[in-house]
Amino acid sequence: MHSSETSAAAERDVPAYDRVDVSVLVVGAGAAGARTAIELAERGVDDVLVLGKRSHGDAHTTWARGGINGALGTHDPEDSWAIHAADTLNEGHFINDPQKVEAVTKQMPARLRELDDWGMDFSRTDDGEIDQRFFGAQSFRRTAFAGDHTGESMLKTLVSRAQELEIPYRENVMITKLLSDEDQAYGAVGFDMDSGDPVLFNTETVVLAAGGYAAIYNRHTSRDDENNGDGAALAYDAGAELMDMEFVQFHPTGMAVDESDPEWEPWSGRLVTEAVRGEGGRLYNADGERFMKRYSPDQMELDARDVVARAIAQEVAEGRGTDNGGVYLDLSHKDRSFIRERLPRMYERFDDLGVDMSTEPVEVAPTSHYGMGGVVVDEYGETSVDGLFAIGETMAGVHGANRLGGNSLAETVAFGVVAGERIAPRVDGPGTVPESVVASVAEPHFADLAEMAGRDGDYEVMDVFTEIQDLMWEHAGILRDEESLQAGLDRLDEVRERAANMAVGPMTSDSFEFAIDVGFMLPVAESVLRGALQRTESRGAHYRRDYTEKDTDWQRNIYVERADVGGMTSHTEQVGSPSPAVQDALDEGHELDYHQLE
Ligand SMILES: Cc1cc2nc3c(=O)[nH]c(=O)nc-3n(C[C@H](O)[C@H](O)[C@H](O)COP(=O)(O)OP(=O)(O)OC[C@H]3O[C@@H](n4cnc5c(N)ncnc54)[C@H](O)[C@@H]3O)c2cc1C
Repeated sequence: MHSSETSAAAERDVPAYDRVDVSVLVVGAGAAGARTAIELAERGVDDVLVLGKRSHGDAHTTWARGGINGALGTHDPEDSWAIHAADTLNEGHFINDPQKVEAVTKQMPARLRELDDWGMDFSRTDDGEIDQRFFGAQSFRRTAFAGDHTGESMLKTLVSRAQELEIPYRENVMITKLLSDEDQAYGAVGFDMDSGDPVLFNTETVVLAAGGYAAIYNRHTSRDDENNGDGAALAYDAGAELMDMEFVQFHPTGMAVDESDPEWEPWSGRLVTEAVRGEGGRLYNADGERFMKRYSPDQMELDARDVVARAIAQEVAEGRGTDNGGVYLDLSHKDRSFIRERLPRMYERFDDLGVDMSTEPVEVAPTSHYGMGGVVVDEYGETSVDGLFAIGETMAGVHGANRLGGNSLAETVAFGVVAGERIAPRVDGPGTVPESVVASVAEPHFADLAEMAGRDGDYEVMDVFTEIQDLMWEHAGILRDEESLQAGLDRLDEVRERAANMAVGPMTSDSFEFAIDVGFMLPVAESVLRGALQRTESRGAHYRRDYTEKDTDWQRNIYVERADVGGMTSHTEQVGSPSPAVQDALDEGHELDYHQLE
């Protein structure tokens, strides 16, 4: 790898930029990016650069708590990778790509053992085996975990393995555009967030492991500056397709807060663990009615996530919500000592905010948790643009219409490995980004960035950013219909105009970063709205008030792509068939039990 200063003369004022030559550029340093780089290094590819827009080891992966799935059979020896695949397809309402599901589930026992070998501090049974528990909807206990800090422990393990292999890493670099001619990837451009210096990465292979898009909704469980759809938007702009974008998983109980109160505002959307309902928490609407009896008289509060989330949304939509747009979750019929013992973190969190869960209810509302859609890739994680890969939460196909808890961490490492396997034998130096691509894509983009930095405008970046999140919540939230989705698309057009007229700070400012995010969120939001409008049925996490039933004709994926002349086009394709082994597991009819955890 080498880096050199390049000055470009063009008609526009193009700032000087660094140039970095590298064989494989991994954009994203969460579990997916780290595991790809490890696979490459282990296969002898040392000319790899991993970068992230945060400091080393600080990726969204660290927020995952509940666990990571793999059919180890610690407690349930009858479990198998094929039953894991069958559960995943069932929970995904058969919109998942069976081939990708199998690619993940087949590998996972080996991936878990390997993490164990590399030092991950998995919780263990008395016999010292990797412990496994139920998590979400599963037929057997197959979720491995490290206490309540699985993601943190996993990323720490991967980062230290990457360090052992001396994999180069750059932190605080934001990629703003990929270099491609729509058939072939040539690298990426972005800027150093500390210095504001633009950088061109010249490479033949780009792996996008840049996370998901759940945070394009105003109430969400992600960090505010992550999961804004960077990966999907970068790939879409480079000519790749997106798929299943309409499927967004809403967790039923996020914190519903007074967003004008600075003490509470940062907590908006944060998870209130399902264990609160598991321990007997009751849901009441603002009229004091225990409303779940109307939606699920047998299961009540313990029904599946999507059922409870829809019930809460319905109560709020029909005017029986609290002023903060939620409902009450009440445990006050339990003793303080019981709550403190069983739910210590929850008790402490609310206690710090001045709410005693043993005497008063807390306010909750559904919160956007995970986008099942993403970039269309083949079985190795490669997109239709040669040399451009998309893996982890950035890719589509594994989760279908609803994600099984514990499967997203699994997907990160499983696809990290297959992508690495595919890329390694092809590596033949950085290649040379064609001058025509530098002149027609990179340099005009650097000029755009320079013009945007410090630009005057009529609208504040954060107002536009929040407006996109608000409109997604209002128009493409849990309960959708044609009129509202269409109105959302119209509103998005208006926001797009304001986005072109924002007052933006210098390149090292938060405002600049969020302005770039606005540019990523716009096409991603549009793809969710369009997909949700086109899918005239209800399936998994996608619920249409005007088409409340699942429609077998809709066992199809919706693909969206950038049209030659502006705009977005879409088409649908039939979902593939599972292999005989997975079909057998499906035919065995294993029951998916729902278990309350985060
Ligand atoms: C609260 C919460 C709890 C969860 N719990 C679980 C769980 O228990 N089990 C489970 O399986 N899943 C869980 N998930 C989901 C899981 O954490 C994620 O799907 C997974 O960690 C994604 O990993 P990733 O490597 O794909 O992306 P991330 O970990 O999100 O990493 C993305 C990387 O890309 C970088 N990046 C992004 N954009 C750019 C850009 N433009 N330029 C440069 N770099 C960029 C980021 O800096 C980061 O390094 C949870 C999610 C949340 C929000």
